[in-house]
Amino acid sequence: MNRMDRILNGLPGDVMFLLGNEAIARGAIEAGVGFATTYPGTPSSEVGDTLSKVARKGGFYFEFSVNEKVATEMAYAAAISGVRSFVFMKHVGMNVAADAIMSMSYAGVRGGMVIMTADDPSMFSSQNEQDNRHYAELAHLPMLEPSNPQEAKDFVIRAFEISEKFRMPVILRTTTRVSHQRTQVKLGSRSVRVVDAKFDPAKGDFVTLPSSSMGFKSELIEKMELARQYCEKTDLNRTETHGSGKYGFITSGEAYNCLTDAIRKHSIDASVYKIGMTSPLPEEEIASFLSLHESVFVVEELDPYLESGVRRIAQMHSSTARIYGKIDGIFPASFEYSPEVVASSLSGIINIEVGNESPPVSVADLPKRPPVLCPGCPHRATYYAVRRAARMSGLSDVIYSSDIGCYSLGTYEPFEMADVLLEMGSSIGVGSGLSKVTGRHVIAFIGDSTFYHAGIPPLINAVRNGSRMTVVIMDNDITAMTGQQTNPGVPYDGMGQPVKPVSMEAIVRAVGIDNVVVADPYDLKSFLPTVMKALKSEGVSVVIARRECAILRDREMQRKGERVVYAVDSGKCGLCMNCVENFSCPAISIQEGKIAISPDLCDGCGVCAEPIVCPFRAIAAGE
Ligand code: SF4
Ligand code: SF4
Repeated sequence: MNRMDRILNGLPGDVMFLLGNEAIARGAIEAGVGFATTYPGTPSSEVGDTLSKVARKGGFYFEFSVNEKVATEMAYAAAISGVRSFVFMKHVGMNVAADAIMSMSYAGVRGGMVIMTADDPSMFSSQNEQDNRHYAELAHLPMLEPSNPQEAKDFVIRAFEISEKFRMPVILRTTTRVSHQRTQVKLGSRSVRVVDAKFDPAKGDFVTLPSSSMGFKSELIEKMELARQYCEKTDLNRTETHGSGKYGFITSGEAYNCLTDAIRKHSIDASVYKIGMTSPLPEEEIASFLSLHESVFVVEELDPYLESGVRRIAQMHSSTARIYGKIDGIFPASFEYSPEVVASSLSGIINIEVGNESPPVSVADLPKRPPVLCPGCPHRATYYAVRRAARMSGLSDVIYSSDIGCYSLGTYEPFEMADVLLEMGSSIGVGSGLSKVTGRHVIAFIGDSTFYHAGIPPLINAVRNGSRMTVVIMDNDITAMTGQQTNPGVPYDGMGQPVKPVSMEAIVRAVGIDNVVVADPYDLKSFLPTVMKALKSEGVSVVIARRECAILRDREMQRKGERVVYAVDSGKCGLCMNCVENFSCPAISIQEGKIAISPDLCDGCGVCAEPIVCPFRAIAAGE
């Protein structure tokens, strides 16, 4: 049995060494999920990578939706038809889905619905570190926060049960360290749920108009009160005592792990109230915990979400406990925690010795090692050609607007072709605004998956309102950055079945753009003049730079047993340094004063051999 088969068919009591996200996928399987959907985003991606591989054998539906809002709407449709549905996304994806979530919380569900958000403290692969626990409060929804892969699996099942108990979606919130933590996980039994999807609402059950939503709102508040009463008694929350238990701690999620390590290392007399269900908060339990301690520390990453609630409860219950947290500056307000961060924060209040410990390493102190595009990446050729085309077209004040994907790496040297980068689809939206407000020519870069996700409405807007810009859609035939997932331009779906791809050039033409061209960035000789022609456009022009991701190409070449690497003829090399300084493929370096190509890194794309890169024609395919 291979690994995926074991995740699907592992027996109750089996123990597997699982990534948090794999454990979450197994939890959904054990819960009898019928419908699962996502838009891939780190740190949530492996949930979809797992479910997509086992869905057909497991007898449930899975899709990579076009974006998180649509994914959430799809899952909601299943849930209001009585099917257990699971939608998952990275934290910023929740912003896209929020429009749907804020209203579906009103109308509620029939089958269980779990919405997973994977937050990213320290922004390892994100543009911000927003704390999505606020969404539970905003939408009035229950929320569970696991601390490790075992809890992650088990909490998914509990989330489905709570969702069906109160007929409302339930949020499962993880962070990078929980989603990407790997530990032993004991499997449970798979629930066999044969559910015929049935959508037979009474009139208005799922219609959110003012007349009905007024009633929904009152019901929602009542449901959350019932959920709070459940939360007061649930075993998802527990208290642990270390030593005399003198100091009180309230915590959740990954912060619990950091706190526990710090307590053990420094032998702190601690009583820890670990909250697994963090919305609604167990007010009476928290009040009771406060009454038992003179000092209570609230330990949590990112925003003072728990702490604000604890302080509110303390005020309501006239608690005399001294509360410490972020609001009073005891704990850091940003970035993920470590046991050292927790211990050093506590050392100002509790008498523990942390002086001999190495201080936590600040990311800011580390040497800068910006990530680079892979050898053979078509985006490198695109950036190289576009920059040259802009220069040759006399566009000295061009604005580069970039987007979310592998091509975000064009921000770094040597290209530095991102003057603005905000969120999915913003290259076109912000780029269009900049062209309007400054009158300058804007070149917007956007990937294929991002274009389908959020690039189409701003493109319509740019055309409709007469922006002057060139949009370069970097179509590498896959959603590459998050792990090679399918997207609407790819001829197979999330379960690997053949489907008709959606033509981006047809979409571009349909919104009224005539100046659209598809070109291969590997073929620099023709790609460069193509871009120059597009830059002459007075309105919106589109260049679709189409060439598959280098990793896809490598796989295909390996399958065929083909391998080509390039080499430099030192006799011909004029040491102009263009290949190193301006093209910058990681396979090319200077060795003992000569240009060398690493055969281990070279992907054989051949772009560096083009005279536009190597004017001395010193680079050629090796023997
Ligand atoms: S052929 Fe040239 S550009 Fe392509 S991967 Fe090899 S060294 Fe890099
Ligand atoms: S571009 Fe060609 S000639 Fe210039 S340094 Fe590189 S290999 Fe040598």
